[in-house]
Amino acid sequence: MSDLFSLIDKLERTHSLSLSEYEALLTQRGEGPASELRERAVRVRKAVYGNTVFTRGLIEISSWCKNDCLYCGIRHGNQKAQRYRLSPEDILACCREGWTLGFRTFVLQGGEDPWFTDERLCHLLRQIKAEFPACALTLSLGERSRESYQALYDAGADRYLLRHETADQAHYEALHPTAMSWAHRMECLRTLKEIGYQVGCGFMVGSPGQTERALAKDLKFVETFRPAMCGIGPFIPHQDTPFGDQPSGSVELTCYLLSILRLIQPNLLLPATTALGTLDPVGREKGIQAGANVVMPNLSPVDVRKKYMLYDNKICTGEESAQCRSCLATRMAGIGYELVSDRGDPRPIEN
Ligand code: SAH
Repeated sequence: MSDLFSLIDKLERTHSLSLSEYEALLTQRGEGPASELRERAVRVRKAVYGNTVFTRGLIEISSWCKNDCLYCGIRHGNQKAQRYRLSPEDILACCREGWTLGFRTFVLQGGEDPWFTDERLCHLLRQIKAEFPACALTLSLGERSRESYQALYDAGADRYLLRHETADQAHYEALHPTAMSWAHRMECLRTLKEIGYQVGCGFMVGSPGQTERALAKDLKFVETFRPAMCGIGPFIPHQDTPFGDQPSGSVELTCYLLSILRLIQPNLLLPATTALGTLDPVGREKGIQAGANVVMPNLSPVDVRKKYMLYDNKICTGEESAQCRSCLATRMAGIGYELVSDRGDPRPIEN
C-alpha cells in the first residue's frame, strides 16, 4: 500500500508513470489511495482553475450515423433508433438561446451523418461565428478526412472532440466493426492536433472487455498525446445494441481515473459527464470533487433529446436548456464551485 502512495507522489511531481505503474495504481486501488488521489487532484485543479467550472452548451445535431459501434444506441444497425437531424436554422436558434443563457462555447455533436457535408458545415460555422464572434466552437462529429478537418478549422471551428475510446488496439477491435480502425482513429487525432485544433480525446470506463492494462494504456496515451481535453465517462448499456446485457462501468473507477488524469496534466479540461450523472444522481458532483472542471449541459431542442439515446436512461432529456443550466449551476454551488460564463480555454502552464 505504501508503494501506491509513493507512486501517487511521483505522479504529482513528474506527471508521468510507466505503463506498469499506471496498471498498479488501478489493480491495487482502494479507498485509501482513492482519497489521497482525490485530495491531490482537487488541490491541483484549484491551483490552476480555482473553484470555477467551465460550461459548454451541447447541441446534438443528428442521430443519423453510418457507423456501427457495438456500444452505441444510435449505431447504424439499430433499427429501433429514432432518427432526426437539426437544420442549420435549428442549430443557430440553439446557439442564440445558449448565448443568452451565458454559454460561450457551443459543442456540435452527432453521429457520422453524411448530410453534414463540409460545405453545409462550413457555412453554418461561419454564420455562428459571425453572430457570436466571442464564442468558441467545438465539433464532435467523428472521423473525417484531413481536408475536411482543415476546411472546418478554416471556417471557424476551434476545438474537436474525438474520443479515442480505448488505446488498446485489440480492445478497440472488440468494440467496433471491422470497417472501423483504431489506427485511423488515432491518425485523426494526430491530424486534428497538427491542424491547430484544441483536441479532446477520451474513453469509456468499464466498456466490455476492458482490462486494467488497457486503461493503463489510455493513461499513457493521454500523458504522451497531451490533449487539451479528455472526456471520460462510464460505459452504460443500451438495450438495442449487442452490448445490451453487459454491466455498466463504475462511477467510483471513473472518479479515480479523473483524479489520476488531473495529476498527469494539471491544466487538462476534464468534464464531469452526463453518463456519470446518469449512473449516480450526484455523479457529476462526484466527478468535480475528484478533479474535473467542466460540465456540458444539454442545449438541444427538447423535442429531439430522447432521440439522441447513446445509452439507456440518459438524463436531462426532458428539461429545457435554461433548466439544465440552472440545475447544474445550483448543483455546483452546492459543493462550493462556481459555473462561469467563459470560453473556458485551457490555462497555459508548464508542467
Ligand atoms: N460520432 C461522434 C460522437 C460520438 S457520441 C464520434 O464518433 O466521436 C460521443 C461519445 O459517447 C462516444 O465517443 C462514446 O465514448 C460515448 N458513448 C457512446 N455510447 C456509449 C455508451 N453506451 N455508454 C457510454 N458512453 C457512450
